Amino acid sequence: MPLVRAILLDRDGVINRKAPKGEYITSHTEFTLLPGVAEAIGALCNLQFEVFVVTNQRGIARGCVSWADLDRMHSELTAAVGRAGGRIRQIYICPHDDSDGCECRKPKPGLLLAAIRDHRIDAANSWIIGDSASDVLAGKAAGCKTMFVGPPEMSADADACLDSLRNAPGIIQSFTGGRGQGAPAGATSRQPSPKSPETAAIVSPPFRT
Ligand SMILES: [Mg+2]
Ligand SMILES: [Zn+2]
Repeated sequence: MPLVRAILLDRDGVINRKAPKGEYITSHTEFTLLPGVAEAIGALCNLQFEVFVVTNQRGIARGCVSWADLDRMHSELTAAVGRAGGRIRQIYICPHDDSDGCECRKPKPGLLLAAIRDHRIDAANSWIIGDSASDVLAGKAAGCKTMFVGPPEMSADADACLDSLRNAPGIIQSFTGGRGQGAPAGATSRQPSPKSPETAAIVSPPFRT
């Protein structure tokens, strides 16, 4: 079975508008996609990457966001991406707070390692894209290429920086020289492993159509 090339996307600040500092996105009514994001994810899928979300959501641990709230946001996200011709394969969530000492809250790489293991991802030819240094550090720890959304001086030495996820397909093409290294089309139809990750990373239900 060939290995899969993946794009591992941070959520808040990359896919959707961030909550003000110290606040959380608690409802689908506050979950607003940034411009061009659904189309960009569609374009990444067209480049033969499988797209995942890896997100810290400590609002769960703090009791201000429920799993049902998250499900609703993520259903809307996956639907919007689907309308743009793309697919989010799976969403990996860390629901813990710093004090929980888990292995999945970024900058720890647990969420990424769970995705890599569950989906036979070729980490060295895969990317994390995030807007925090903790995303870049998690990506480096998992052996991925790293892309930072924001100014280079904040990037924790990411491999590439960009203003918006909209620019990611073009940047990735320039790194890989186009579509030549894509996994065969058949690879994208495999079912994810039902096994729970051992890292205590919480995995959302598989993508619903
Ligand atoms: Mg973020
Ligand atoms: Zn965690």
